[in-house]
Amino acid sequence: MNKILLLSLSVLCVAAFADTYLVKADLDASRLDPFARANIAVIAELEHTAILLVNEEEFNLISNRSFEVLDENPSEGDYYLVRRVDETLDLGLYGDILFSENMDYLLRIDHAVFEELIKQKVMVKKLFLRPIVFSDGNPQPEMLIDPTVQEIVDLVNADTVLSYVQRLQDFISRYSTYDSCFAAANYIASKFNDYGCDSIFFQNHTSGHAPNVIGVKRGVIHPDSIYAVICGHFDATSYLAPEIAPGADDNASGTASVLEATRVMKDYEFEYSIRYIAFSGEEFGLYGSEYYASMACSQGDNILGVLNGDMIAYVDAQPESLEVIAKISNPSCEPLADYFIAVADTYTTLLTNKRMVNSAPYSDHAPFWDNGYVALCNIEDMWPVNPYYHTPGDTIGAGYNNNDFCTEVIKAEVAALSIMAVPYTTSIDEVSNVKFAGSRLSIYPTVHGSQFTIVFNGHDPFIAIYNATGHCVKQFNHLTDQPFNHVVWYGKDNFDQKLPTGVYFVRIETNEATQVEKVVLIK
Ligand SMILES: [Zn+2]
Repeated sequence: MNKILLLSLSVLCVAAFADTYLVKADLDASRLDPFARANIAVIAELEHTAILLVNEEEFNLISNRSFEVLDENPSEGDYYLVRRVDETLDLGLYGDILFSENMDYLLRIDHAVFEELIKQKVMVKKLFLRPIVFSDGNPQPEMLIDPTVQEIVDLVNADTVLSYVQRLQDFISRYSTYDSCFAAANYIASKFNDYGCDSIFFQNHTSGHAPNVIGVKRGVIHPDSIYAVICGHFDATSYLAPEIAPGADDNASGTASVLEATRVMKDYEFEYSIRYIAFSGEEFGLYGSEYYASMACSQGDNILGVLNGDMIAYVDAQPESLEVIAKISNPSCEPLADYFIAVADTYTTLLTNKRMVNSAPYSDHAPFWDNGYVALCNIEDMWPVNPYYHTPGDTIGAGYNNNDFCTEVIKAEVAALSIMAVPYTTSIDEVSNVKFAGSRLSIYPTVHGSQFTIVFNGHDPFIAIYNATGHCVKQFNHLTDQPFNHVVWYGKDNFDQKLPTGVYFVRIETNEATQVEKVVLIK
């Protein structure tokens, strides 16, 4: 036993001290597949280049292609992918340029001036030293003509959309580390609360930054870790940050899409759960979405699809069209793009332009791609770019110049999200019949530190407990053996571990009906 322990310790020590290298390698038509087969850590994919983390033994696995060592023993937080929107900007002032390809630069940043960089007209993505998850993606729904979906889409209201943008702009600055960005997070959470989310949480991701704000609408049939996402970042930047960063187009517009979706869907039920997410830390390099997507991946969340809106309200061409940006492979996002465009054609007057890419690293969809999830980036026609981008002029009437366009984009996102989550209409009657016929499930007490008695009726029920994020934490088996039609939940999970305090959902499912009740586990 000791010998094995010593041996494994020594292996660990060798691993800890082995040199690792940051390497760029040329990509061919087989893209990332050879690296996936050889189990090599790819940490970023550009159009012609993969950025890898390799140790000495792994060099022979890439020796058949042209590669270049960029740095030795890289440490997390030093590297950023950067694209200039202002092409006169000298990136050399902000760090060492390790290489560039087309418009993308890999910068080893100078921490002392990093925040000066993100106040410029640049797009940045922090290069996390974490391998990309190789994935084919998942099947996407078919476009569906459904009166319920039309009803929901018709509730999207241009004045309401504008009111969110005005309120977000009125914070003056939503620079991610600034006080008023925290206040904006509270505003978003209060809206999620007004709009009936089943749970709302702040997700802290980076010290000093405002949190991600997440609203959960629980699915009636699949409340657990299967869900669809609509998201947009709510933080902003400008050359007068941190004091002034109104970010109306970038990205109160995308945040408004999240809030309006929450509002118009509130009185409808869906089979799958939905996450309404406002991310922060985006302008610093996608900190919030990176945290969310890698957490989702590590806990095995099954995400049906992600709709990310970032800058959806500046119109510079007539007619303007929405760029729908989707990844070609790893994961394959074209089915989601085709589905989204078919939905937009059916339910809105929006014009779209499908843009299939190998790489588009600069908004919150990208960390989902990196973690194997199918996602789209929806953005206004990109070139010429909004002249108010990352300036104090990104306000309603200037940077945000077309509320009607923004509203049409939101209609398309709402329709796509609704069909993805599957409207639950026919079965709603069954649930309300249950209430008429007397409940299948009652619980006492509903607030307690360690003991809830769950009383049920109905044949062969399935009873499970879910936490506020929709994960199943406890299942009860063999309930038909119970003589008295009740079971006690001691506030523990399937492994008999005490669960944290919070709101939990008790769900009973029988052949006839499904019912959910809320309990609160306290200290
Ligand atoms: Zn943005």
